[in-house]
Amino acid sequence: MVSSPGIGHLSPALFLGQRLVTGHNVRVTILIVNTTNTSETQSQLISTYTADTNISVIEIPAADISSIVAPDAKVVTRLCVMMRETIPTIRTAISSMDPRPDVLMGDIFANESWAIAEELKIPKYVFVTGNAWFTGLFAYSPVLDKKVVGQYVDLSELVEIPGCKPVRPEELTDPMLDRDDEAYRVYLDQAVGMTLTDGILINTWEHLEPQTLDALRNNEILRSLINDKPVYSVGPINKKYEPVSSKNEVIEWLDKQPERSVIYVSFGSGGTIPAEQMKELAWGLEMSQQRFVWVVRPPSGQSSDGAFLKPGPDSRGPNDSGPPDYFPEGFLTRTQKVGFVVPSWAPQVEILSHTSVAGFLTHCGWNSTLESITSGVPMIAWPLYAEQFMNATMLVEDLKVAVRPEVMPTKKVVEREEIERMVRSLVEGEEGKTMTNNVRRLKASAEEAMSMNGSSYISTCRFIQDCWSRVNLAKKQ
Ligand code: UDP
Repeated sequence: MVSSPGIGHLSPALFLGQRLVTGHNVRVTILIVNTTNTSETQSQLISTYTADTNISVIEIPAADISSIVAPDAKVVTRLCVMMRETIPTIRTAISSMDPRPDVLMGDIFANESWAIAEELKIPKYVFVTGNAWFTGLFAYSPVLDKKVVGQYVDLSELVEIPGCKPVRPEELTDPMLDRDDEAYRVYLDQAVGMTLTDGILINTWEHLEPQTLDALRNNEILRSLINDKPVYSVGPINKKYEPVSSKNEVIEWLDKQPERSVIYVSFGSGGTIPAEQMKELAWGLEMSQQRFVWVVRPPSGQSSDGAFLKPGPDSRGPNDSGPPDYFPEGFLTRTQKVGFVVPSWAPQVEILSHTSVAGFLTHCGWNSTLESITSGVPMIAWPLYAEQFMNATMLVEDLKVAVRPEVMPTKKVVEREEIERMVRSLVEGEEGKTMTNNVRRLKASAEEAMSMNGSSYISTCRFIQDCWSRVNLAKKQ
């Protein structure tokens, strides 16, 4: 397996690898492309999961792209160029593996490595770490590129994807928001790359996205776009709660709070919000008079993915000497009995699994979304970048497990009253109770899917069978 940089790509690769090793008797080696600012958290994740499950890991230093890519290039561009430039090292690493791998799998940023599979004459599979709705849009993007004139965001109608729920133009995935940007070109290349693989594994499950999975398999247009290749729903693949002997400070604090009383606020591994928005969020939390845990990262300037690829503790966190200037004056003192502020990084799965947590204000990264669902925690959807706007819409409109601010968080500041209203309704209101019941049902369906003979288990078995058929066929040729 080839994993691109970023904990949001690495952790599902590790967990899928773990599942293949423990549940399906497969040997797995993960090639992890690492940037120089890999956090301690990421290193810990790698060592824990590789020690526990016999996954072999080859860490590959990402190529230095500072002279090729503009400093303000979008994350998608940086990731794609980084992966492309690292291909020679990946090729050498794969070629020197003994025994040689039978199958190559990679995430969507690993599309340059499909050429290596072709050279070695081995099957290649893509693991989409997002959901099926995003996969449908992704597969259909090269067609949209030919059909639509001008910027997608200027369209007055919804963007149709055959057989799937349409997408609001302003909610399209990041690289589609500006067709003149380099990121759009690399995104289209990735999309074409996905259709050239021998099959697509998606981090979703049948019950979560039945219509979209059906469209990917049976809609004539989508099917022909992905060349009739099999689509496997293998999720939810995400970190599960495991009790630990030594408790983190934040967990000790949660232990002292009443059941279902705390809002957990976090914007993923790299999400940031502007200074003005941070102040409103702080005011909103305080005014709601509800308990909260807030993973705080210093505010961003321009981009909402400001800290992506640089997760981990930040020296400007609020535990440093004196309160930071991005909170309203006196905020930390006034909320010290009800709030717990964590600088930059927190044990998210442990927090979400805690009985005192009532809701999650999240940027809707797909890993965070799955962790919330599998912990039975309803959400306040606050998307920032990538395909997170689509994820938010799905959570609010289709699954009814989240509320969402009335303004788009990246377009305009969400005001304190709106934040107060959402937090209250989630913790105290009827809406919160209904969403909790809905999300608990989803949690049960996720457990069912992953259990022996559940839909994701069966889908993974099919994937393995198909792999071996292809491997045997390739060996005969
Ligand atoms: N995460 C964490 N602690 C934090 C922030 C993030 O453990 O303080 C983990 C989170 O549990 C999730 C991943 O980082 O598994 C973030 O992935 P996601 O897809 O939600 O968002 P991304 O950061 O890739 O946008």
